[in-house]
Amino acid sequence: MKVTIVGSGYVGLVTGACFSEVGINVVCVDIDSKKIDNLNKGIIPIYEPGLEEMLMRNMKKGRLSFTTNIAEAIKDSEVLFISVGTPPDEDGSADLKYVLAVARDCGKNMDDYLLVVTKSTVPVGTSEKVKNAIQEELNKRKVNIAFNVASNPEFLKEGAAIADFLKPDRIVIGLDSQRAEDLMKSLYKPFTLNGHPLIFMDIVSAEMTKYAANAMLATKISFINDIANLCEIVGADINLVRNGIGSDSRIGNKFIYPGIGYGGSCFPKDVQALIRTGSEYKYELRILKAVEDVNNDQKLVIFNKINKYFNGNLNDKTIAIWGLSFKPQTDDMREAPALKIVKKLLEAGAKVKVYDPVAMEEAKHHFGDSISYYDDQHETLIDADCLAILTEWPEFKFPNFKIVSKLLNSPAIFDGRNIYDKNEMREHGFDYFCIGVDTTK
Ligand code: NAD
Repeated sequence: MKVTIVGSGYVGLVTGACFSEVGINVVCVDIDSKKIDNLNKGIIPIYEPGLEEMLMRNMKKGRLSFTTNIAEAIKDSEVLFISVGTPPDEDGSADLKYVLAVARDCGKNMDDYLLVVTKSTVPVGTSEKVKNAIQEELNKRKVNIAFNVASNPEFLKEGAAIADFLKPDRIVIGLDSQRAEDLMKSLYKPFTLNGHPLIFMDIVSAEMTKYAANAMLATKISFINDIANLCEIVGADINLVRNGIGSDSRIGNKFIYPGIGYGGSCFPKDVQALIRTGSEYKYELRILKAVEDVNNDQKLVIFNKINKYFNGNLNDKTIAIWGLSFKPQTDDMREAPALKIVKKLLEAGAKVKVYDPVAMEEAKHHFGDSISYYDDQHETLIDADCLAILTEWPEFKFPNFKIVSKLLNSPAIFDGRNIYDKNEMREHGFDYFCIGVDTTK
């Protein structure tokens, strides 16, 4: 079977790599010719553990190729995945212009049966629009070619994307034809052999499942952050409360870590898009509006703590920052809390010195020369007045605190990810601040 994947970003590359890994012939398409040139030279545009090796291996085996030419790619393909971006429009709804452009490209170029599967996160009703766009192009060409559409939302997590794709919790597929079901079953068979379920449903439910999943996860984060903030005020410790509630099997202990808010390319835009879908249908998603509000405020909790520590005067203070990506194991900084925190620090007159294991190049696109970048985490501490941890990279978990304390001007650590223990920090002589714990007691 030959598969075409249109959109060679995080989702498209991981999908292409994993399908080719199980022996399927894959062509990845993108309109960004520089990206495709680089991929053909073996230069991978993103950092994702295990991705580069897998892409290289399958390119060498001749099962995976990259092109800007969708017409060529579609030839002999039975299945085409759309994995282009769906960024928020001005009103928060998902902008479908890239998805529909690909649908039109399909209608313009297909000359045999094609199953067009939307993997991008798209609002309810989009597959119908994809179907109509393809049919319009076929009508213009005055040809009668059979095709089906399906919805196959992607649930991979950046940083663990390969493992998520190869061993998914589940694969959700919305469709309305037996031919599409047979094709999807055979395509995903290698990934379901160990009992990972393929869940078939109607297309609208599949589209909704993706948004409901991300909205639920974002809700868990905002919920625990809201409780964390109250813990701090009343003198409770969120780390203990989290263990206390997480051991209830109805609640579970996953995804209830307090921090500085969710970021990334999915939760913020998907929560917004679902709120927007609600309002289009005159239904107000009140919980999700609160989830968004809490998250926007949470991104500033660490800035507020730093500002308070220095009595509202950050002018000429130097802040060392460890971690910039929105979570560990990725260089993705889209909607990362670090963006908002660094901006606020600079506005307040502070100097900012940063280190991230993989997101430094990405950070340069956002901050240019307004901050200083270091290849070594300790170098950020020289002449710095405090340290802020914004991403919980494993390498930050056991630093040599004697060196940290010696290098900093004042021994203050602001831990936005609760990776250190307050008693240990006190023993090391630090003024230590984290989320949801009154560490001054
Ligand atoms: P991305 O921005 O990394 O990649 C999208 C790619 O599509 C870009 O390379 C762009 O050049 C290309 N593109 C745009 N228009 C095109 C066209 N007409 N023809 C060919 N290529 C085109 O995006 P991503 O993070 O991979 O996300 C893609 C979709 O998957 C989004 O809807 C996103 O919400 C969803 N999703 C993302 C993740 C994630 O973790 N990144 C997880 C699940 C779902």
